[in-house]
Amino acid sequence: MNVAKLTSGLATRRCLRTVAPARLSRGLCTRVAASASSSGDFDFDLFTIGAGSGGVRGSRFAASYGAKVAVCELPFDFVSSETRGGVGGTCVLRGCVPKKLMVYAAEYADDFRHAAGFGWSVPSEGLQHSWTSFIEAKRKELQRLNGAYKNTLNNAKVTLVEGRGRVVDPHTVEVDGKRYRAKNILIAVGGRPSRLDIPGAELCITSDEALELPACPRKVAVLGGGYIAVEFSGIFARMGAEVHTVFRQPLPLRGFDEEVRKFATDQYVASGLHLHPRMTPQSVSRQLDGRLSLTLGHADGTTEVLTDLDQVLMATGRVPNTRGLGLAEAGVSMGPKGQVLVDEHCRSSVPSIWAVGDVIDRIQLTPVALMEGMAVAKSVALGQPTQPDYWAVPSAVFSNPEIATVGYTEEAATEKFGDVDIYTTSFRPMRNTVSGSPIRTFMKIVVDAASQKVVGMHMVGAEAAEIMQGFAVAVKVGVTKAQLDSVVGIHPSAAEEFVTMRSVTRQVRRAAATA
Ligand code: NDP
Repeated sequence: MNVAKLTSGLATRRCLRTVAPARLSRGLCTRVAASASSSGDFDFDLFTIGAGSGGVRGSRFAASYGAKVAVCELPFDFVSSETRGGVGGTCVLRGCVPKKLMVYAAEYADDFRHAAGFGWSVPSEGLQHSWTSFIEAKRKELQRLNGAYKNTLNNAKVTLVEGRGRVVDPHTVEVDGKRYRAKNILIAVGGRPSRLDIPGAELCITSDEALELPACPRKVAVLGGGYIAVEFSGIFARMGAEVHTVFRQPLPLRGFDEEVRKFATDQYVASGLHLHPRMTPQSVSRQLDGRLSLTLGHADGTTEVLTDLDQVLMATGRVPNTRGLGLAEAGVSMGPKGQVLVDEHCRSSVPSIWAVGDVIDRIQLTPVALMEGMAVAKSVALGQPTQPDYWAVPSAVFSNPEIATVGYTEEAATEKFGDVDIYTTSFRPMRNTVSGSPIRTFMKIVVDAASQKVVGMHMVGAEAAEIMQGFAVAVKVGVTKAQLDSVVGIHPSAAEEFVTMRSVTRQVRRAAATA
């Protein structure tokens, strides 16, 4: 299976770099099965480095299949460093979970404002938010989750070793001076925020610190136009900050459907974000009053300076966390970003070493890491060579408004299938007609014209993530447009639009494009 060709545009970019040729994979299959039986020479059948989403999932399922498993992880902290981490990993402690809690906190601000349209008297004075109380509540929840993850490992009879793990050789892991022999090693160390190499970079924060700020910034610049940038821009803006989002492309969210990017950008402007497209950060400096100023450069040579910033958030991508892990020395082939190169089974060039999650830089999403962890558990502990299936991986961006997507973008589908039918709709959601919110919703279906199969669905609007999860099932199993049309809608809802789009918006034809 050519994984790269089956994924959406965003995923395609990443898969192409890391998936090994099918020939290599067939050769490895026999060795996968052979590695399943345990041997007395080893302390463990599987030793996992990193107890984030992928590492915990792989470890506990391998243990449930009968393997003797250990996992090592750094001691807990809210902000990660060379010496601090925590069971739960990025998603639970410094990513998806705390971010979503911040999104919830920010949504209340809109809800209070919009309630007036429905007759509620919302005092313009006296509506207060305690940032300190919120951060305290968030911390409490993360500590609970950290404990829950430890319990899960304990209940699964996985040995937890606290400390920094390092690969000594293909069968040895060292944790803070103590060595463990393992038949298989799973690398699941995730990634860390990357920083731009510009003067004043040390004055900037990353998403780690953005989740732990002592106060909400009044004026903030967010560098980057990816997931993290647009999500934090939305959070800070709804919490009342003046937000300047700076990105080097004409539109944010490169890799997403072009129409979705344009529509989302219009909504970001309507929601109050100050967008700075086609700008590259050049330097950050501290003003005399302690605040920050940021110099931006345009491709035409002009510059712009943003002053009086409380924070500058660098959201310019994440890099694999493999520094000092000993992988290259152990013979593992590494990619240019420091990612572990793996085949379709998530197996590295060293047969006893496997890797899952952000460290392989394929698709940086928690549910993908979970899928990969499960696949490795089956390959290693059951001797059943298992490949993760990257077709129709849905994802959501929790910006304001939300974006959710599954399958191909229009651009990727046109490239793959040649002829595609596009169905779109855009409307002001019923809630917003009364609340006064200017935010609109956009929905799009991409259909392969020849087979009439739905190969992509996209949405910008409230509850997009919740809606898309269900439709992802349909896309994954190959639903046709006619089958979608045969479904009765739930009224009144936004979701029903996905089953009531009868008129084609445009038919994209390869012949027309090449004429
Ligand atoms: P992304 O890869 O999504 O975005 C990085 C952004 O930084 C891009 O806009 C990129 O611009 C820009 N950038 C990179 N290098 C430079 C540079 N030298 N100068 C200026 N701009 C630069 O990374 P994120 O950090 O936002 O997120 C990391 C990953 O985490 C995501 O890919 C996603 O998979 C995952 N994630 C998922 C979430 C979710 O599921 N809701 C939420 C948050 C993160 P350009 O496009 O031009 O390269």
